[in-house]
Amino acid sequence: MSCDFLTLAQPGVQKLSPYVPGKPVDELARELGLDPAGIVKLASNENPLGPSAKALAAIRAELDELTRYPDGNGFTLKSALAARYGVDAAQVTLGNGSNDILELVARAYLAPGLNAVFSDYAFAVYPIATQAVGAQGKVVPARDYGHDLDAMLAAIDDKTRVVFIANPNNPTGTWFGPDALEAFLTKVPESVLVVLDEAYIEYAEGDELPDGLDYLARHPNLLVSRTFSKAYGLAALRVGYAISSPAIADVLNRVRQPFNVNSLALAAACAALSDAEYLAESRRLNDAGMQQLQDGLRALDLSWIPSKGNFIAVDFGRDTAAINQALLREGVIVRPMAGYRMPNFLRVSIGLPRENARFLEALAKVLSA
Ligand SMILES: *Cc1c(COP(=O)(O)O)cnc(C)c1O
Repeated sequence: MSCDFLTLAQPGVQKLSPYVPGKPVDELARELGLDPAGIVKLASNENPLGPSAKALAAIRAELDELTRYPDGNGFTLKSALAARYGVDAAQVTLGNGSNDILELVARAYLAPGLNAVFSDYAFAVYPIATQAVGAQGKVVPARDYGHDLDAMLAAIDDKTRVVFIANPNNPTGTWFGPDALEAFLTKVPESVLVVLDEAYIEYAEGDELPDGLDYLARHPNLLVSRTFSKAYGLAALRVGYAISSPAIADVLNRVRQPFNVNSLALAAACAALSDAEYLAESRRLNDAGMQQLQDGLRALDLSWIPSKGNFIAVDFGRDTAAINQALLREGVIVRPMAGYRMPNFLRVSIGLPRENARFLEALAKVLSA
């Protein structure tokens, strides 16, 4: 008799469902016999601008060195981040995407018998990273689809080692302000690591949201994670980072695989970080696209959750599986939210003006059918 390798997996892993990504353009083209060039993908919160020309040039310049291992310490990128944010390079941890940072935290600080606290409707990777190491995820009910920080505080017990918080949150786009963060950090036990996931902060800077880095000096149990995947337009390269106390960075560095960030990603991230014009254009495009989508949704009598990210969760007031399927047949890929227990919503990433228009036209057609 052959072994059942599912029941041999550790219990937390057995109960996991794999992360469901946005459908790739080529996959939809194959499935429905569509021309990939006519498909619009607004499903993974990617930057519709394409990468910065400076990042592309840096990648080309690095190609001849691909036989070499990358700099496992990421010296140049860490130095650039440290200079940019006024921190010490010893406070920076680089990750293979910020997803990697979340996993490093889980591997270093969670284990069977311990737990991590996070909100309902929070990023899908928090439960995966937590359960994968056999720890318990304590899911706290949301308030108006956003984090209920008081309830999250109340959920912390003596087995809690980590709290995962996203600001703004994905997939809902909800956010909280500086006072709420300050009150939360002041009350969290010093021994609980607070992971403040700021994957979308570049879209929201100076706009009602706290800058997590401002709180690091007073709260040594805080870790701020950020990414080059969203506003910096480098999702495929997989590079993100954490800024924390040097002590936490030292621990994460012990469990990190030695060459977790590849050399093309390191070079591109350095170039992207110095390309202020690209970042400003990303932000401008996002603000305009958010307005365009909201105007279009209003015209269709639809409502949505106000968002500070590069995406918007649209409320259809009924199950969206059929609407999603019909949009796919129109060559428009958005993100179903049933996996987040929000079956009446679709999450739509902000695209280029013509992509947003295509989505709105397809939606109008689907809803009137
Ligand atoms: C996209 C996203 C990330 C991370 O993406 P990486 O590509 O792994 O850097 C992290 N947190 C949230 C909330 C996200 O939406």
